[in-house]
Amino acid sequence: MSTPQVIKGFDAQGRRIPSKDLDELIRAALKSGNYIRIESYGQHNIGCRLHGDEPITIEVTGPVGQRLGAMGMPGTTIISEGPASDDVGWLNIGADIIVKGDATNGVCNAMAAGRVMIGGSIGSRGLTMTKWNPEYDRPELWVLGSVGDTFAEFNCGGVAVVCGVEPKRPGTVLGYRPCVGMVGGWIYYRGETDGTYARNSAREQEPDDVQWQWLMDRMPEFLDKIGRPELLETLSRREEWKVLVAMTPQEKAKLLKGPMSMAEFRREHWDKTFKNGDPLADLAPDLDRSPIPVIVTGELRRKKPVWTSPGAQGKPCRDCHLCETVCPTAAISRQESDERFGYVSNDDKCIACGFCRDVCPVSIWHMEPLP
Ligand code: SF4
Ligand code: SF4
Repeated sequence: MSTPQVIKGFDAQGRRIPSKDLDELIRAALKSGNYIRIESYGQHNIGCRLHGDEPITIEVTGPVGQRLGAMGMPGTTIISEGPASDDVGWLNIGADIIVKGDATNGVCNAMAAGRVMIGGSIGSRGLTMTKWNPEYDRPELWVLGSVGDTFAEFNCGGVAVVCGVEPKRPGTVLGYRPCVGMVGGWIYYRGETDGTYARNSAREQEPDDVQWQWLMDRMPEFLDKIGRPELLETLSRREEWKVLVAMTPQEKAKLLKGPMSMAEFRREHWDKTFKNGDPLADLAPDLDRSPIPVIVTGELRRKKPVWTSPGAQGKPCRDCHLCETVCPTAAISRQESDERFGYVSNDDKCIACGFCRDVCPVSIWHMEPLP
């Protein structure tokens, strides 16, 4: 490569120049050549939205502020020779961003395309809210070490590779609670985790042949860019890798059950939590808790529900269990004999509230007066 133009992030007295001034110097230098070395001094937004007819290469040798490569454009390559601060690759839409040291929080936040390669570990909220457009290549995040908490939250199509080499947090290379709300993309990882990934958003698997080929095709370039080619053999052991893949909407739908019936809630939660179903039992154990007949059952009711199929609309019962689900006293049960079924209400439990009649989509239940 030709000799770079050098831009300093400090003035003749060694004082830091503002980020905006550095950005203007970079844009002016691009008129003379596309290879620039920046002796930065903590400036922000280095490499933001640079584009030209020829590929652009920006090398950064000093301290890096926030948003390195923010809104990076295709054809731009930004290389930080050391670590970087928050939000590397924020809103990146195509740049290659290489950080040879660690990076802090928010790496690749809301990135749509391009690649970010980290030669160390990263902080929390990496690869969050990516927004991949299927017309373009997927955004990629490569991390040599480990990632922080809430990784890949709302990831939408991004691919991450977390190598687990010299991780900042050995024992949990993916941090706490990765993949919450992830709807697309996948994450290769290697090393121990705490197992807290969101199981209703992602599923774990061994890399299949296609996934493994994808990884191995790209791994040498990653290691070369971060200056660690000697790790290729270590990172080529397939049995050490796992993949977290975003679940499809169909897979998620299978996880969802219908609403819990009142009877099930009472049996599984209420009665188990409160002794004999009484939330005050520990405070007043000797109190008489026999039912006070304000709400009556049995013969004291004025009406009782009757199940007749077909119902008033001339349509048969749909067997949808809705009446059984909403009944506040769990009085309704489904009964079956000789391939026929029906729903009955237990007079000793029914309080004649009429919910079963009201919810039935085909008017099977009606309330009959009692003498
Ligand atoms: S009237 Fe009310 S209490 Fe009786 S069976 Fe119907 S929903 Fe249950
Ligand atoms: S709500 Fe109506 S249709 Fe559904 S199971 Fe009950 S009686 Fe049948």
